[in-house]
Amino acid sequence: MKYYSLNKNAPLVNFREATIKGLAPDKGLYFPAHIPLFGNDMHSEIMQGTNEDIAYRAILPYVGDVIPSERLKKIVTETINFPIPLIPLDSFTWSLEMYHGPTLAFKDIGARFMSRCLGYFAQQENRKLTVLVATSGDTGGAVADGFYGVDGVDVVILYPSGKVSNVQEKQITSLGENIHALEIQGDFDDCQRIVKDIFNNKEVNDKLFLTSANSINVARWLPQQFYYLFAWKELGSKIKPVISVPSGNFGNLCAAMVAHISGMPVKKFIAACNSNDTIPRYLQTGKYRPNKTTSTISNAMDVANPSNFVRIEELYHHDLSRLKDMLIAVKVTEEETAGAINRALLQYNYLLDPHGAVAYCALKKFQETNPESLGYLVETAHPVKFFNAVESITGRTVEIPDQVVLQLQKKKRSLVLEPDVKQVIDFLFSL
Ligand SMILES: *Cc1c(COP(=O)(O)O)cnc(C)c1O
Repeated sequence: MKYYSLNKNAPLVNFREATIKGLAPDKGLYFPAHIPLFGNDMHSEIMQGTNEDIAYRAILPYVGDVIPSERLKKIVTETINFPIPLIPLDSFTWSLEMYHGPTLAFKDIGARFMSRCLGYFAQQENRKLTVLVATSGDTGGAVADGFYGVDGVDVVILYPSGKVSNVQEKQITSLGENIHALEIQGDFDDCQRIVKDIFNNKEVNDKLFLTSANSINVARWLPQQFYYLFAWKELGSKIKPVISVPSGNFGNLCAAMVAHISGMPVKKFIAACNSNDTIPRYLQTGKYRPNKTTSTISNAMDVANPSNFVRIEELYHHDLSRLKDMLIAVKVTEEETAGAINRALLQYNYLLDPHGAVAYCALKKFQETNPESLGYLVETAHPVKFFNAVESITGRTVEIPDQVVLQLQKKKRSLVLEPDVKQVIDFLFSL
């Protein structure tokens, strides 16, 4: 598979180069030269194969021959080594729980796949690879866990001191070994600026083999198809579901739409958004007008200018009316989100996190006007990750899973630095 830049001003690359580069030299996102179609053999694989076989078959055309098949099988197996169950709520609604991975959010899947691919590429180069990433919280944990113990890779994570939650901080700082946490005495924007400056510094890049673990990376984006294919297998070939995806940067939804274009049956996609409603307004008016970002309780979706949306437009050849046949976008307010958490608890004794609640609310709105529509929502995070919000909405305490209790008991190890590029560069050279 070749990948081109959506800015159309950079050379074609293979999966290996697209993964290492992250962003094309013309600053465009990489996009596969074609979307492979599932043949009859893939259909029978989906109905009869194991999840490992399904995931391997789905990703193989995108990876091509840059990773040997045995190694790719191992990477896929390690990526999905936790349950991703489809839980029935009522006779026409399910919840696809993507939060049973090590950091309790769906980003584990993309991060685990990408980290293992990069580990293989570093080994091939026989050069130590340094992953440099800034986090406002969730990405850091998933990236740290994904790369932990991966040979030949050092990970340097910059996070704003005092501005991430206790659990998030422990996920970043407690691993040690090849995971290095830099606690920056500034805010997230400082962390991002430092990382950007370093990627733009030619001298540093000539000496070090640097890569970002950015969420637009093809190796994080494409494996997000896996769990939709598993849900397809669970539902069987007769059901054509409505799929409601809580969306921020739109990578997860875009992966589902790729799987649909390859042949996965879907009646309609719902982009479930919080008050950051650029896309719902865009689909309604045809005008792309991002507002300022608004803070909400579903904070991983607080994105006003979603970077992956351009990939969705590319999938539909920038034809808005064709896109609108397949995709609707629904804005869900804070009050509706809280109401949805309480309603699901009351009706099904099922506890949603605020992100899943946005998706649930959007799906129920659709089903009200389209009865007989079977569908599932995507539950992207464990409610315990947002226990403050969930407890104050429901008035009940959220049970803390054992893995979180253990995490909180671990020792924090971070290097406190001023928001100064030079100090971070010195640290990189000291590794
Ligand atoms: C990142 C994230 C989202 C948004 O996913 P995108 O792929 O950016 O649209 C939704 N929920 C949770 C819990 C997340 O961490």
